Amino acid sequence: MTSSITRRRVLQTGVAAAALSTLPHFAMGQANPVVKLRILETTDLHVNIFPYDYYRDAADDTVGLARTATLVKGARSEAKNSLLFDNGDLIQGSPLGDFVAYRQGMKKGDVHPMVAAMNVLNYDCGTLGNHEFNYGLDFLQNALGAAKFPLVCANVIKANGETLQKPWLILDREFVDEAGAKQKIKVGVIGFVPPQIVQWDKANLDGKATTIDIVDAANKHVPDLKKAGADIVVALCHSGIAGGERKGGEENAALHLAKVDGIDVILTGHQHFVFPGGKEFNNIPGVDVKAGTLHGKPAVMAGFWGSHLGLIDLDLTKDGNAWKVANFRTEARPIYDRVDRKVVAKVDSDATVMAAAQAGHDATLKYVREPVGTTAVPIHSYYSLVADDASVKLVAEAQSWYVADQLKASAFKDLPILSAAAPFKAGGRGGPNYFTEIKPGPLAIKDMADIYIYPNTIRVVKITGAQVREWLERSAGIYNQIDVAKGGEQELINPKFPAYNFDVIAGVQYKIDPTQASRYDDNGKVVNADAHRIKDLTYNGKPVADDQQFLVVTNNYRAGGGGNFPGADGTTMVFEAPDLTRDAIMRYIIEKKEVAPKADGSWSLAVPSGVTMTFTTGPNASAYQPAGIKVEKMGDAPEGFVKYKIAG
Ligand code: MN
Ligand code: MG
Repeated sequence: MTSSITRRRVLQTGVAAAALSTLPHFAMGQANPVVKLRILETTDLHVNIFPYDYYRDAADDTVGLARTATLVKGARSEAKNSLLFDNGDLIQGSPLGDFVAYRQGMKKGDVHPMVAAMNVLNYDCGTLGNHEFNYGLDFLQNALGAAKFPLVCANVIKANGETLQKPWLILDREFVDEAGAKQKIKVGVIGFVPPQIVQWDKANLDGKATTIDIVDAANKHVPDLKKAGADIVVALCHSGIAGGERKGGEENAALHLAKVDGIDVILTGHQHFVFPGGKEFNNIPGVDVKAGTLHGKPAVMAGFWGSHLGLIDLDLTKDGNAWKVANFRTEARPIYDRVDRKVVAKVDSDATVMAAAQAGHDATLKYVREPVGTTAVPIHSYYSLVADDASVKLVAEAQSWYVADQLKASAFKDLPILSAAAPFKAGGRGGPNYFTEIKPGPLAIKDMADIYIYPNTIRVVKITGAQVREWLERSAGIYNQIDVAKGGEQELINPKFPAYNFDVIAGVQYKIDPTQASRYDDNGKVVNADAHRIKDLTYNGKPVADDQQFLVVTNNYRAGGGGNFPGADGTTMVFEAPDLTRDAIMRYIIEKKEVAPKADGSWSLAVPSGVTMTFTTGPNASAYQPAGIKVEKMGDAPEGFVKYKIAG
């Protein structure tokens, strides 16, 4: 008892002394007021409210706004003044989101469970993410209509020339300064979304909305925001952090946005990374990963699915009549730690947040457990980046089956149908349990969503044999170049290359040789014009000719230019299906009653001798062997992953 009182006294004295020494005018009153303002960010929540993984139908301590909410309340209690913002990607991305969109529906006046949960937390403002557009504009308006917080977005323009949302607004706030006096401060808030939404959600936006470049939109609106009296400006930027020259139209534009005069604070997102921290951002000029700054301005990225709370503490001082950011610190506070390779929750769930969405959660549990059919084989993605794989092949099979039926009376009925599909759950930033794993036996709706997590719709492109080869070359960029001369142990997979861009094309046979340089960089640009990784590309046992014609089944993201794949830039599309890929997979299984997707080695890696090629996967991989190659477990890898080598 005594010692704790003593310690508190010492602390209080220490704080007062520090304040006096750095702020000598304090005791004299209001001459140089200092306002400490804490800015809080959630981003990319994707309808993750409960700490629950609906795909595994099990509790999950790594997700959920109910957990982040406890961090919010803690962070608020530590601060005199705070504002809470959300950075978008709210209404799509979990089976709860799908349940609302596809089973329950959203009428005007309905309250989306994500919004109900957020309303409990008194957000000050939010912005739109790209996934807000996945279910169409009506759904978006109805879903967000009941939000008790405003939404801003400056770069989506309706057909009538107005922005879809208010581009910006001013929060007129009264904060308490360090001397205990009230200070009126106008906080300007402006929002941005990747302009690529018009390609990714073409079917929902064509003729209804266009987009403009993020930095152009900022240059257009920030001066107005300042003229309207904003003392400081916070950018809600649903866009990530990337280096390189600005060309305009960047998907990840936060670093360029930081150069815009008048913007003081940048909340980022979309990439599902963490900032400050996050080794993905090392060595980008202008980015300070430790301090959490972009060109010297404070910035955060709060992970995804509620994994982190972004936090920026600002010291605002008055410079004449103008408030300015005199000092700051940034932080990304996690809802869990990994201790001895195990996930350990750092906070309990907030009961009020869960109560607000309880009905939706319960209905979703019922929905995801509905049976669809059975599988005769295990369907998992543990080796999907190194070998032919049943989880990808099931998608490819279902797509071909669906399109063959849809096009059987069309002008294209005699063209060979190939089917492109990529592993979506393949570890990476999702963690060591972020894999598909379904045991032989019954398949339920939760398994459909596990196999195909995105609400993509089916598209068909008509392309040449040469384009098929280039498409595969683009995919093969997932591999680091293996140096045979150097030998020894070498990592096979490039961690910056998203698994969803590793398209496997079923219907042709090929080998991938990772000892060759990649023809394409991570953005789909040809960087090694003479390099070829795709070998022995055949169709029906014969080499694919450059001028041969093929139909390739893919999705709206890819066919519209997502990932910049050769032959998939929006101009080659010959069929736009009304159905979701996931629904096609579901129908396929219902029709067949039992499926047995085959990993038949239609593609394989060329394995050089004298080099140990390694990759990481989830701990449960040890229950299975990949098709066509042999792998051996080497030991534990960081963050709960397990390291393997390709044994031949
Ligand atoms: Mn997102
Ligand atoms: Mg996004």
